[in-house]
Amino acid sequence: MEPPQIYVERTLAIIKPDAIESLTDIEEIIKRSGFTIVQKRRAHLTPEQTSDFYAEHYGKMFFPSLVAYMSSGPIVAMVLARENAVEYWRELIGPPNCFRARETHPDSIRALYGTDDQRNAVHGSDHDGAEREIRFMFPESIVEPIPTGQAAKDYLAKLVNPTLLKGLTSLCKQKPEEPITWLADWLIANNPNKPCVNDDIHVTES
Ligand code: GDP
Ligand code: MG
Repeated sequence: MEPPQIYVERTLAIIKPDAIESLTDIEEIIKRSGFTIVQKRRAHLTPEQTSDFYAEHYGKMFFPSLVAYMSSGPIVAMVLARENAVEYWRELIGPPNCFRARETHPDSIRALYGTDDQRNAVHGSDHDGAEREIRFMFPESIVEPIPTGQAAKDYLAKLVNPTLLKGLTSLCKQKPEEPITWLADWLIANNPNKPCVNDDIHVTES
């Protein structure tokens, strides 16, 4: 029987200027909720960059104040990965209006860390926006569809098995007392695809 397919998905999270002080607490919630933080960047967007990012809201009453707020201070953008990342992250952050969030989703991040209908602590992509928003914040990252079936086998053979083979060979030579923990540590130290964490990099104007 074929094992069930698990689709790992990526989404963009932003810790907005009003919640920067709660960054550590929010990151803790993210990690506890089964997400991997694949990339992370601190940025201070210009009003022009913010307008591009929120282009879908251009023309709405709240657009000018949204742009002023999002460019008022540093933000932290993160690419989060897990099964159903887009939907799960939006569920975890709750509705955009924090007053409503506190009524209907009292445990959500926006209920806990947000202030009002605009300063709502965090952003989460929707399905249509995730890829564009990840590219916007991390222009150098390659967003490829995650392979399945034969493509997944080819991917493992090319990019995972060689590392695993080296790790298992070292394991056999070393014969550590706790082989599983040893291998886990070895894989973390020798991961050729280590996530790249860039702190304090300003997104420059294009
Ligand atoms: P989101 O996808 O859950 O962030 O919500 P939207 O895409 O509808 O709105 C984008 C952002 O605009 C929200 O997160 C809020 O910061 C802000 N926003 C949305 N609706 C309003 C509103 O009615 N008034 C104000 N001042 N800001 C709003
Ligand atoms: Mg939105």
